[in-house]
Amino acid sequence: MSNLLVMKFGGTSVGSAERMRAAAQLIRDAHQQRDVLVVVSAMSRVTDLLLDTMKHAEADDRSVVEQNISQIRQRHVQTARELLPAAEEKLIEGEIDSLIREFERIVNGMLMLGDRPARSVDEAVAIGERLSSVLLAAHLNTIGTHATACNGAEMIVTDAVFGNASPVMEHTTKRAHAIVDSLLAAHTIPVVTGFNGATLDGRPTTLGRGGSDFSASILAAALGAAELWIWTDVDGIMTADPRLVPDAKVLPEVSFREAAELAYNGAKVLHPRTLAPLVDQEIPVWSKNSFAPQKPGTRIVGRLTTSEGARAVTSMSNVALISLETSSAVVSGVQVMARALDAVSRTNIEVLAISGSSYRQSFCFLVRSGELQTTLDALEAALALEIAHGYVNPIEVDEDVGLLAVVGEGMRGTPGLAGRVFTAISREKVNIIAIAQGSSELTIAIVVRRRGLEKAVRAVHAECHL
Ligand code: ADP
Ligand code: ASP
Ligand code: MG
Repeated sequence: MSNLLVMKFGGTSVGSAERMRAAAQLIRDAHQQRDVLVVVSAMSRVTDLLLDTMKHAEADDRSVVEQNISQIRQRHVQTARELLPAAEEKLIEGEIDSLIREFERIVNGMLMLGDRPARSVDEAVAIGERLSSVLLAAHLNTIGTHATACNGAEMIVTDAVFGNASPVMEHTTKRAHAIVDSLLAAHTIPVVTGFNGATLDGRPTTLGRGGSDFSASILAAALGAAELWIWTDVDGIMTADPRLVPDAKVLPEVSFREAAELAYNGAKVLHPRTLAPLVDQEIPVWSKNSFAPQKPGTRIVGRLTTSEGARAVTSMSNVALISLETSSAVVSGVQVMARALDAVSRTNIEVLAISGSSYRQSFCFLVRSGELQTTLDALEAALALEIAHGYVNPIEVDEDVGLLAVVGEGMRGTPGLAGRVFTAISREKVNIIAIAQGSSELTIAIVVRRRGLEKAVRAVHAECHL
């Protein structure tokens, strides 16, 4: 068993020279005890700015493009100046400039084409992580901890789903070992870019927004790490988003399944797919606050010793509810549902919750707002004939909705909990539109009117004594 520790730092945890210093201190302390591999996000807000630049390039809005690029450059150069001794700083400024030029080259292509091809977006957006990894590695070296910036695209092999790729573990394991083993043997810390990968034939990909958590877990699994620590800007995984529920509390321990359900249902603290690579080897994960490292954080483990009732409530606001109903006994509702879901899954769109009525031969499901149009196109193509004949009613869409989910392993066998949750929401006069509970009873998902979402989250949090 290796003693490798993978430490992932999110955008706010490397968001300034001061935060990079704090991160480096944590890395150095850990490295005195064991092997360490670091995964970094782009500095906070940089990914948004890179994406915004490309949007404006497509729209031929040169002045915004130039302003943004100069802002991105300035932010990193300024950080380098505050972080590094003069001689080192000059060197790193050169590296920053060469990465900025790489970004400019791709963006110029977009300006010329008036288009933003998905694979170019993935190549360009990863430059945020490449910039932060260069800065953090340089700083580690100046404090005497040997480190090398590494591009995650050279280690993480993925499928070709640009913008939301999945790892191919067999190849990733080989490539990660080929690069990392010799660095670790030389007591050098790899500072790897989060968020990005590449297909086997070298086309750049990314793992979805917030994907650096996923990069870290992919590498932890590939390298058989002993532990993964995810450093963020809150004290761990909490009973609710603290921005929404001020009295949310930190959970000392959650199971892989609970954490995954929370993440899938909107708890931004973890990328939804983070835990999947770790389950087989049961690699323990900690979610910790880089602003308060002395606090214990949350431990995510394979099995909990005890878990009672609901543990946390989470929500998602940018979602849309799609309803399908057959209008004639000629077609079976179950078949329509099967065909519809098959069509949606082929577009790689994630269905967030499903609920149905067998008597009315109707069902509805939830998708992210950004994926609504693609979903509708896929459904209309798959059911064109039935819709044209009137066997299936026109597809209905409700965008004025939000998703609330209550999660806990111990909800199973807690009678009356669902009733209390519904009553708490109704008491706030928030309309419940659809309900879904899987047979595992790990999560109750509730679709409510959008404007009542935050109120409902607070009411459920209070009702469940979280
Ligand atoms: P990072 O940049 O470190 O990856 P993120 O912004 O992606 O950090 O995730 C951390 C944020 O997740 C917190 O600031 C918090 O507002 C939000 N969050 C949402 N739900 C939860 C929850 N249940 N527990 C903790 N944080 C949550
Ligand atoms: N920088 C990427 C994002 O903002 C990945 C991450 O931070 O995890 O989505
Ligand atoms: Mg994140």
